[in-house]
Amino acid sequence: MIIRHGLVALPGERDFIRADIRIHGERIADVASATSGGLEPLEDEELVDASGLLVLPGAIDPHVHFDEPGFTQREDFLHGSSEAAKGGVTTVIDMPCTSLPPVTRREALENKLAVISNQAVVDYALFGGVSGHTVEESLALWMEELAPYVVGFKCYFISGMESFTRVTHDDFARIVAAGERLGRPILLHAEDFDYVTAATRRVKARRGEAAPEWADYADSRPEEAEFAACAAAMALARGREKTLHVVHVGTAQAAELVAAGGATCETCAHYLAFSRDDFSRLGAALKTAPVVKAPGEVERLWALLASGGISFVASDHAPAPRAEKETGDPWTAYGGIPGTGTMLPYLLSEGLLARRIGLPRFIEAVCGLAARRYGLSARKGAIEPGKDADLVLVDPTATTRIEGELLLSKGKITPFEGMRLTGRILVTYVRGAPVYRAQRGADEAAVGEIVAAPGSGKFITWGYR
Ligand SMILES: [Zn+2]
Repeated sequence: MIIRHGLVALPGERDFIRADIRIHGERIADVASATSGGLEPLEDEELVDASGLLVLPGAIDPHVHFDEPGFTQREDFLHGSSEAAKGGVTTVIDMPCTSLPPVTRREALENKLAVISNQAVVDYALFGGVSGHTVEESLALWMEELAPYVVGFKCYFISGMESFTRVTHDDFARIVAAGERLGRPILLHAEDFDYVTAATRRVKARRGEAAPEWADYADSRPEEAEFAACAAAMALARGREKTLHVVHVGTAQAAELVAAGGATCETCAHYLAFSRDDFSRLGAALKTAPVVKAPGEVERLWALLASGGISFVASDHAPAPRAEKETGDPWTAYGGIPGTGTMLPYLLSEGLLARRIGLPRFIEAVCGLAARRYGLSARKGAIEPGKDADLVLVDPTATTRIEGELLLSKGKITPFEGMRLTGRILVTYVRGAPVYRAQRGADEAAVGEIVAAPGSGKFITWGYR
């Protein structure tokens, strides 16, 4: 098959290049620019006309909570991966903490794979986890047993989950050492436990008997809590900073500290799009943990994404049903939003096409650097011969309007509700096969369909080649 005449996002190029891409089986066999004459079709070769369309490498969403098995009233792999495909995400990496039992040991991973392997429509890797209540078992054996099957280990400095608890600073230093020995990054949810616990108490006392407001929740998890946790993490990982990756950073100050010390971090589309001001207005639809930050952070995070101080973007996709989101109480409303389907459309429109970031950084931020960080770059993260044919065709002249009720995720409540974005995803290919297809010229809110069978997505892990 040849995808012809598209404007292709090739690695290292400053602008889109008109080129043809030959796909043989699951992989990219050849790429030839129009200026070099393009590709000559073989007899009977299928041709896809991509004239006027952008051809992007499939996005990697390196932080999703698909909740299966265990919390499937919130999300499952079929719905989550369908939403991903709709949004141009061709590989997701799922978190260990929001399925039951949590993926802290090999038996749990095998159990999870047995449940999800016939569900996904995009490729997927898994993170292992280290929970505070079983940290000694993890350090003695479980991390080592899991390492061949996972692309990193996640832990928390603060956790709201009974089934997956926070680690202490002492635990964390030993976990980073184990990660370095095993050759896997250690991912940290960086909010300081003491700070948030004390701030929560203070904010609740201040409010007294009056009804809580959304700003109270934001005040309980301020910018300083993230910075303090990142500073501690850098100190505890001293000499092993390359093993540390801080997830969902929302403040520029924390990102700068982490990057300057030689560790890596990600941010999320919602921290690039929204601030505390929006949270007061949107409430539950924008409640996440960590919470969105002060208005000034948005532009500073964009600048860090453009410069590479923030490596890549993830969705932290974590939806919940209406009953769990709309409790009417800022403290109990579920903290998490669907995001895997809106991440790439948002970054394309408000990042690349709005010229906040250039094409090389855009590609690195949506797939290239996550592929390298998690040992997947032999086959993922760029449009190059030999790599998997994970491709997204986008009509840059059309618009997309986001409607929560039309999300393919189980979660329908999104802070991006009603947002109009430049560009419209028409086809998502995973390993050469179309997975999602939308109609050209359809209504801006219309959603296409999933055309791949559940289970077509493949489990991949570190060193996949
Ligand atoms: Zn998360």
